[in-house]
Amino acid sequence: MDVAFKTQLLPNNKQRTYFAKASGISRFTWNWALAEWDRQYTMHKNGNGDRPSGMALKRQFNALKKSEFPWVYEVTKYASQQPFIALQRAFSDWMKDLKSSKPQHLKKRRPRFKKKGKATDTFYVGGDQVKVDGRRVKLPNQGWVRLAEPIKYGGHINNMTISRQADKWFVSFSMKVEVCSLPSKSQARCGVDLGIKSLATISQGDIREWKSPKPLQEALRKLARYQRRLMKKVKGSAGYRKLKTRIARLHKRIADIRANTLHQLSCYLSTHFSEVVIEDLNVRGMMANGKLARHIADVGLYEFRRQMTYKMDWRGGVLTVADRWYPSSKLCSGCGSRKPDLTLADRTYHCEACGHKECRDFNASKNLEKFSTARSAGIYAAGDDGSALAA
Ligand SMILES: [Zn+2]
Repeated sequence: MDVAFKTQLLPNNKQRTYFAKASGISRFTWNWALAEWDRQYTMHKNGNGDRPSGMALKRQFNALKKSEFPWVYEVTKYASQQPFIALQRAFSDWMKDLKSSKPQHLKKRRPRFKKKGKATDTFYVGGDQVKVDGRRVKLPNQGWVRLAEPIKYGGHINNMTISRQADKWFVSFSMKVEVCSLPSKSQARCGVDLGIKSLATISQGDIREWKSPKPLQEALRKLARYQRRLMKKVKGSAGYRKLKTRIARLHKRIADIRANTLHQLSCYLSTHFSEVVIEDLNVRGMMANGKLARHIADVGLYEFRRQMTYKMDWRGGVLTVADRWYPSSKLCSGCGSRKPDLTLADRTYHCEACGHKECRDFNASKNLEKFSTARSAGIYAAGDDGSALAA
């Protein structure tokens, strides 16, 4: 089983310079490969030469590098090798998504050029060049670099990716671990309701509310501000385009922080519960609070479900996805009656039938926990939009 472990690096100045240089070479190689790909593809369409491929481009680059790009030898060979594999994969993913039925905004985009200062500084190192000892990692020709925390898992290191966020450097290890070495869990089921303000509400266990991290909240507030400002700008103007770019970058940042937090959350859930019930991705369509909130919630849910699927799998647990018709937020978790007119603004669920009063999200998480029972008890049926029960 492969797991990822990400932590901060504490490099000295010389190592920082090396990281920046290796990232630069990685970016250069990617851009070279993409430009060649485009050129060769155009030629191929006009009847000259083969369709481009990552492997062929890598061979062409290697034949040139000694005379044309000798500085690539100053850093790990992977900085100028991995981009070809990554580009090939990016093209394959893009083409696969073109044909898929995924929502447009979740589809991979065509590989693009990486601009210095805009694209993330990052490079890859293959496992054969990585050595780890407690709280430090050894890089080829660079000696030991300190880690902010020791690596959690023991096992073979497949590879690592070093990347920069603002002025900090991080390393993400991909490792092979034995499934049985993972911590065991209690035997319980829980329902998890995902939201924007609090990331998740959990129906069982010690942690009932998983708050969104501060940086995420700040980024979301900033995004809303930018979005308001964008509406006042003239479409297509320089200011408009500039703001658009900043918004795109902020989206990326939000996605990154969210993915990180979701990893902590999915780790907690998969180690503490044998069954976790979450809601279907499509449910969010009804919760749409403007296009923006929807986009963010979708990406979060998509990523959360992806992580939960493989983590529950590793640990022998079950992930249940309530179907899209299950009205988890509209049912009373006390008596099971339904409130069809509940709006997003109602933060508290107040049941008129039994007087039950509860925080809306917590009520929803409890209903998710009861999903299987509710379904077999016929409290709702798939395809039922609630209108029959509204009376
Ligand atoms: Zn009730």
